Amino acid sequence: MKQILIVEDEPNMRLGLKDNLEFEGYQVSIATDGKQGLDEIVNNTYDLVLLDVMLPELSGFDVCKISRERGIKTPIILLTAKGEEIDKVLGLELGADDYITKPFGLRELLARIKAVLRRGPDKQQSPTKVSIGRMTVNFSSYSAEVEQEPVKMSHKEFEILKYLWEHRKHTVSRYQLLEDIWGYHEQPTTRTVDNFILKLRQKIEQNPEDPQIILTVHGVGYKMLEN
Ligand code: CA
Repeated sequence: MKQILIVEDEPNMRLGLKDNLEFEGYQVSIATDGKQGLDEIVNNTYDLVLLDVMLPELSGFDVCKISRERGIKTPIILLTAKGEEIDKVLGLELGADDYITKPFGLRELLARIKAVLRRGPDKQQSPTKVSIGRMTVNFSSYSAEVEQEPVKMSHKEFEILKYLWEHRKHTVSRYQLLEDIWGYHEQPTTRTVDNFILKLRQKIEQNPEDPQIILTVHGVGYKMLEN
């Protein structure tokens, strides 16, 4: 049985989520503020955390950031309030796997949970440290450097890079990336994928204009040539 931690300070929200998730067959634990949430995440092995952003003691962002800094890879879905567009981006950069905006429907939440759980386990099995072009990447600490200089990368960029690396020498289609990295079809477009690839190339390639590592396969997607 998959274990989910809910970190949420609003009692109604918390109980509603707990009931619904238990009904769906998940085992649910509860934390009511950020500090308690962090303790739970650090001291237990949950399959997934639903983490509210606005919390007493420590915000959801802090909890997310501190967990990742401590090398904890438990998948996190942030629960953000309506209109916090910037917060969502920040949340993903701090290491959240996905976010969902309140108010949300149960079906949407369940779909997100399933998508995140589906790609959760292989995080543990991937190699820790690899060299890709100019870059040394540590997939477990989510850090990267070029010539000993740390490179700032978002969580999504790491995920895409890792995916390409795991499928290196094979062509990966944009749709494959959308499905396996984003986990759902609605929001991001293939253009989103292209933009991420552009950003990655700027960090990895000697000459991003003439990529030698992440190649474009016209009409299909991308292929990593490294190693
Ligand atoms: Ca709250």
